[in-house]
Amino acid sequence: MHYVGMTAMRMNAQVRYDPGLFMLALLCAVVLAIAALSIRSQPVASRVRGRWSGAVAALVMGGAITGMHYTAMFSAYFVRDETARAVTGSLDPAFLATIVILVSGLLIALVLSATVAVRYLDVVQRLRRANDELRQAASVFDHTAEGIMVTDAAAKILSVNRAFTWVTGYAASEVLGQTPKVLGSGRHDENFYRALWATLLKTGHWEGEVWNRRKNGEIYPELLTINAIRDKHGAPQNFVALFRDITQLKRTQEELERLAHFDALTGLPNRTLLGERLHHALDRIRRSGGELAVMVLDLDGFKTVNDSLGHPTGDRLLQAIAQRLAAALRAEDTVARLGGDEFAVILEDLKHGGDAAEVARKLLLSLAEPVDVGGHSALVTVSIGIALYPEDGGDSIALLKAADTAMYQSKQTGRNTFHFHHSDMTLAVRRRLDMEEGLRRALEGDELEVWYQPQVDLASGAVIGAEALLRWRDPRAGLILPNEFIPLAEETGLIIAIGDWVLNAAAAAARRWREQFGWHWKVSINIAGPQIERGDFHFSVLRALGGNALPAEALELEITETFIMHNADNALEVVRQLRALGIKTAIDDFGTGYSSLAYLKHLPIDRLKIDRGFVKDLPGDRDDAAIVAAVIALGASLGYTVIAEGVETEAQRDFLRRAGCDQGQGYLFSPPLPMAEFEAWVRERER
Ligand code: C2E
Ligand code: MG
Ligand code: MG
Repeated sequence: MHYVGMTAMRMNAQVRYDPGLFMLALLCAVVLAIAALSIRSQPVASRVRGRWSGAVAALVMGGAITGMHYTAMFSAYFVRDETARAVTGSLDPAFLATIVILVSGLLIALVLSATVAVRYLDVVQRLRRANDELRQAASVFDHTAEGIMVTDAAAKILSVNRAFTWVTGYAASEVLGQTPKVLGSGRHDENFYRALWATLLKTGHWEGEVWNRRKNGEIYPELLTINAIRDKHGAPQNFVALFRDITQLKRTQEELERLAHFDALTGLPNRTLLGERLHHALDRIRRSGGELAVMVLDLDGFKTVNDSLGHPTGDRLLQAIAQRLAAALRAEDTVARLGGDEFAVILEDLKHGGDAAEVARKLLLSLAEPVDVGGHSALVTVSIGIALYPEDGGDSIALLKAADTAMYQSKQTGRNTFHFHHSDMTLAVRRRLDMEEGLRRALEGDELEVWYQPQVDLASGAVIGAEALLRWRDPRAGLILPNEFIPLAEETGLIIAIGDWVLNAAAAAARRWREQFGWHWKVSINIAGPQIERGDFHFSVLRALGGNALPAEALELEITETFIMHNADNALEVVRQLRALGIKTAIDDFGTGYSSLAYLKHLPIDRLKIDRGFVKDLPGDRDDAAIVAAVIALGASLGYTVIAEGVETEAQRDFLRRAGCDQGQGYLFSPPLPMAEFEAWVRERER
């Protein structure tokens, strides 16, 4: 710029340059320009570069221009035209300008073409690289073991890979343009897919297990990942689904699960699974209440069998025993093999902890028959220990330990038996079992008796009937009262046979009294719930009447208020049918069962029997007095005869009579008596 400018100057002289100073000007310009550029581009100190480097560089650049300009001006000298030619050793300005323009132009051209060349090379390289990636991606798409499916925003299938075809059985041409619904198995409901789409649209991603259907109809599990690809506005443009068939994986998992939780020899749950089930059962019971029992069973003398017949036989024996134990239990109970010849049982939903004894007996019985193992018949027994939740332990470990301790007691007391961890329970259950056995024996062996208690007309004092009351004369324990054994008889079902026996005995007594003494009264018989519930009760009654040639009104059936209140209409229907046959019915223990007055009106009964509990404190207790007076009035207004039980004193009798009660029964008149004594009592009174 400087030299061209100098040449362009119009003057009457020619410019000449001193070559040495010209070189100095050039040097000054180049060195300072380089310095300025380096200040601008190099990190001298970040702070200087940040704020001041621009200014410093500009200053240096200014210095470069100024230095160059002044040095160049200094190198110039002006001569007249005519002397110019004579001056030698100086530089001609035109020549200098041309050289400077040419060199600058060349430099600019060089820099420009170098820049373009570098850019071009860069683009080519990147293109080259992108192509590689594409080819790799295509190859991965087709060779990956995972099925891939790409859809558009409306879930229309755009492309699938080869693995898709291997897994689903559909060729690409069969599914393009369809939606993934073609693969639906029907195993997931609408909610499942709705939740899937909600997550996918919200987060752009979904992952989980899905059951799909192959072209051949087979349903299979797959692990599915779906990603949404969004356009620049964020709206989903494509969905890419990646899935893997995990049928094999599932099968392996199940097999591992089985191995981890079941005993390989017997197929029963193992100790681990037993622990888990017990844990869950306890959780349930803590929430909803109830009783639970854990039993530990140890085979007696298994070692002898194993040693004498060999281990393969021992194994077969264990398998057979496992089957028998499982068969003796309900499906919902768990029997597990703890290891060796030890088993364990969980019993849930017990009404009463003592009921576990019943199951223990069943288990003992299930091994009573010898087991046939490969031509040998082996007889093994088992010792059982029972622990109850919550009495014997609060968690599974404590319960198993308690049951184990109890099991050792069974071993010590002769094996082939069971023990509760709680010795009281063992005692109570034993007593119960003894009683049950005794009761069966009593029924067969003439140990039952019916005693009779008179019922009296309160106004006249005349005997108008008798209640038959059962007694058990146990050869060892002596006389046992019904409250001690009737509940057990009801639970075990023995009450059916016992009830029939009482019915016949009472009917026979009624017949004898009619025939021998002309006593045409009713004999009252207590009936238990299970007798009525069985459904064929009226046959029993008709048989008892027919067998003794008695008219229907010779018998009265007493049913407790509690039973009437707690039982379904069909039980009442049975009572109604009996009554239609002419048989009398009474509500026993009236006042203890909370029957509503409205309900009372519809009951198929003839007589109300006021419970002893209300009579006991008459006439002193004002509440009882009021209740009894009200019941009598109510009974009368509904047309029922009213009888009071448990009348022990004259004051009670007088109060009842004054309140309008028709009849009474109690120690004041006579306690229940054996038949002969009862007859003597009545005849004495009649005299
Ligand atoms: P229940 O039907 O209410 O019988 C009345 C009970 O009160 C009888 O007791 C009787 O001995 C007693 N008793 C009678 N008068 C008096 C008295 O003045 N004071 C006192 N403190 N008690 C008196 P028992 O014979 O022990 O019978 C008890 C219960 O056993 C009966 O109550 C009845 O529910 C049931 N029962 C008796 N025999 C049979 C039967 O053959 N079958 C069925 N299913 N249950 C029976
Ligand atoms: Mg009674
Ligand atoms: Mg009663």
